[in-house]
Amino acid sequence: MSQSPAGRFAPSPSADLHIGNVRTAVLAWLFARSTGRRFLVRVEDLDDRTFADVAQRQLADLAAVGLTWDEPPQYQTAHEARYLAVVDDLTERGLTFECFCSRKDILQAPRAPHAPEGAYPGTCRDLSDDERARRRSEGRPPAIRLRSDTTEYTVTDLLHGTYTGVVDDFVLRRGDNVPAYNLAVVVDDAAQGVDQVVRGDDLLSSSPRQAYLAALLGYSQPVYAHVPLVLNADGKRLAKRDGAVTVSEIGAESAMAQIAASLGYRATTVDGMLAEFDPARLPREPWIFHASRRE
Ligand code: GLU
Repeated sequence: MSQSPAGRFAPSPSADLHIGNVRTAVLAWLFARSTGRRFLVRVEDLDDRTFADVAQRQLADLAAVGLTWDEPPQYQTAHEARYLAVVDDLTERGLTFECFCSRKDILQAPRAPHAPEGAYPGTCRDLSDDERARRRSEGRPPAIRLRSDTTEYTVTDLLHGTYTGVVDDFVLRRGDNVPAYNLAVVVDDAAQGVDQVVRGDDLLSSSPRQAYLAALLGYSQPVYAHVPLVLNADGKRLAKRDGAVTVSEIGAESAMAQIAASLGYRATTVDGMLAEFDPARLPREPWIFHASRRE
């Protein structure tokens, strides 16, 4: 692919962006711009497809704090055929299997003594043809899982160094035919020329699965930077109930002033921060945000 390299911010339109999401977006922009990359915004609306108004507000908030992007934002719901074609290719290569398990089945399945926690226990991986036919006839549409030939994979992260994490037989296509996040993100990053992935460190543990899938598909590995999350005063993920946390509640200028302070920058505009940006000096600890009470 002859596109110039890009970084990106890829929000799910499930709720308005809070100051922590915006801080991650600002960092993604700084990483991209400071390395001469294009910057893209992608709306990851496969699971939140009824929230077009939320997506619009998210884009407006990103623009309000001064972020710029180089192409119109792409919406994942516009590309479902692209993801499903990749599932079909993997299936033709013998790299998938149908899985009939419910969440409960997976939680209750016996697991091997050294199986990594949270990993798929392999229940449907080797069903016989008869058993598969019987399960199909019960009417529960199967999910499609990757037939992974490893249990772990190593990625390189600019903040975390070398990180090795679990790769299991993760879902590629859900039973309701919706492409899974881990598939869509990998396919889109490759399709859009994204070779730098900056996002919250809650997704660090997903990166080995994604990088492994990228390798299977012949895509090059992106450089990762998983940045610390913003937490509330109790050390929990920042959320609506914490008070005024969204850009519209805080105000774009005040939000940027607080983000700049949390990163140790004097400048409070994105261009000013770009002049001061040094990835080696980024805080490695979560930022504790004290929301002001709503009226
Ligand atoms: N859409 C994901 C989220 O909002 C982020 C995906 C990514 O950056 O890879 O949590």
